[in-house]
Amino acid sequence: MINNEIITELERIVGEDYISNEPEITFLYHYDFITAEPEGICDAVIMPNSAEEVQEIVKLANKFRIPIVPWVSGINFGATANPVKGGIVVDLRRLNRIIEVNSDDMYAVIEGGTTWADLQGYLQKNHPDLRAGITWSPPGTGVVASCLCYGMFDLGMLGGTGAEFINGLEVVLGSGELVKVGSCCLSDCWYGRQPLPDLAGLFIGWEGSTGIVTKAAVKLWPKLPFRKDYIFLGPTMDVGIPVILKLSKLGLGICDIVIQNYGWLQSSLGGNEKKVPIDPREKKLPDFAAIITTQAYTEKQHEAQCEAIEMVCKEGKLVEAPGVNPEELLGTMPIQLWGCWNFSRGGGGEWIGSYCSTRDITTYYNLARKVALNHGHTPQFYSRLLFGGHYCVARTNINFNKNDPKDIESARNILKEIHEQVQSLDGVVMYKAPEWAHQVYRDKTLPSTSELILKIKRMLDPNNIMNPGHGWVKGD
Ligand SMILES: Cc1cc2nc3c(=O)[nH]c(=O)nc-3n(C[C@H](O)[C@H](O)[C@H](O)COP(=O)(O)OP(=O)(O)OC[C@H]3O[C@@H](n4cnc5c(N)ncnc54)[C@H](O)[C@@H]3O)c2cc1C
Repeated sequence: MINNEIITELERIVGEDYISNEPEITFLYHYDFITAEPEGICDAVIMPNSAEEVQEIVKLANKFRIPIVPWVSGINFGATANPVKGGIVVDLRRLNRIIEVNSDDMYAVIEGGTTWADLQGYLQKNHPDLRAGITWSPPGTGVVASCLCYGMFDLGMLGGTGAEFINGLEVVLGSGELVKVGSCCLSDCWYGRQPLPDLAGLFIGWEGSTGIVTKAAVKLWPKLPFRKDYIFLGPTMDVGIPVILKLSKLGLGICDIVIQNYGWLQSSLGGNEKKVPIDPREKKLPDFAAIITTQAYTEKQHEAQCEAIEMVCKEGKLVEAPGVNPEELLGTMPIQLWGCWNFSRGGGGEWIGSYCSTRDITTYYNLARKVALNHGHTPQFYSRLLFGGHYCVARTNINFNKNDPKDIESARNILKEIHEQVQSLDGVVMYKAPEWAHQVYRDKTLPSTSELILKIKRMLDPNNIMNPGHGWVKGD
């Protein structure tokens, strides 16, 4: 697919140090560390240093009809940066400059390959009174990548998904043209997407299949002096979830609420699979945990928030987790979470996750739990409440041994079965969905909606070279 002539052209664009088609390098770009889906092949990897270089690469790929895959660390957990149709992986990590921090309107303009470590490091050094919303993902993962795929941040109760943190974008379209969307298209101010036609949606939720974002403005938030993390436990989700839903809708200024079942809590604590019962309810262990984080500007304001949180949880008969220090747990999260997949032999794990209505979390969990237990697996369940409790994400993880093809196949089937079961709940929509789930959505929606999405894709990416095999539109 990529001959010497093309490699020479790519070398001309970025310099020979920043392009490779050597298998010992390209391997890193198609190896997916956990996924149950089959991996593709990276034919070449390139690291551009400017939007102009990205444009040249995309134009060249159009000329030769070569797939292009935007990539930052490739561990987004849905394998959506895996080059399933081969082609050129565009490693964006040289595009990691923090261009501006505007403390008046509280946003940062960053390049498309900026990692959480780049952004948080910069803010801690230069703007200690501001912070970004962050994920539990490792520090080397991408900020813009996460915003574009509706990431869930630790300020999600205040600001919604990562997509809602985006103020504006600069993008190289699949055609090679450069566009700007948001207030930045008319000025140097990147304060928002209002009141213009909101074109950011042409790139959000598309998994890099319409263009490569070269710059983005992301919202920042004040870093407040008073903060507390709680973990409350309950016997079952049926008992715990109504209490936490009530809490989420009281407008208390809570930054983050994460609900976990026993299996997920144990694995994030670095538990040993062999010592954890598959069904905790049989052993009368708590199958509900809520991690609640709150912050405030004054001590009195904080005391009042904490009092309200404790009152609602205790009225609902939830107890604070004995012997677990939530701050220690959260402080180690990005590293500790790797333990989740060492939980099972072979270190493999994959999940099925959906956005859904908050009224369906309990039923979602009970359906997923039943399927997992029927197959002899510990369900690992996690739900994050977002935007003041307006909606939520719910997901179930199944571990498998990555060295055992039968175990992988079995995990894949369990996840599909869970998805089929939870699809019976109205409004459950999978995120970072694989091709088979996109097919279900293409079949389910109005044909005119599907046609509109296809028209947009054709307009932005006329030769269908952008991350084919991922996103709503079927790759060839
Ligand atoms: C241990 C662990 C914990 C995690 N916890 C969380 C969590 O709490 N919340 C959460 O939301 N996520 C979480 N994640 C998922 C993930 O890390 C985030 O989605 C992440 O920030 C994406 O970064 P990445 O470098 O993995 O992206 P990649 O895998 O490189 O890219 C993700 C997608 O975006 C596309 N893309 C990347 N950059 C661009 C660009 N500039 N323009 C256009 N398209 C682009 C890619 O093609 C791909 O489709 C976790 C992951 C791990 C491994």
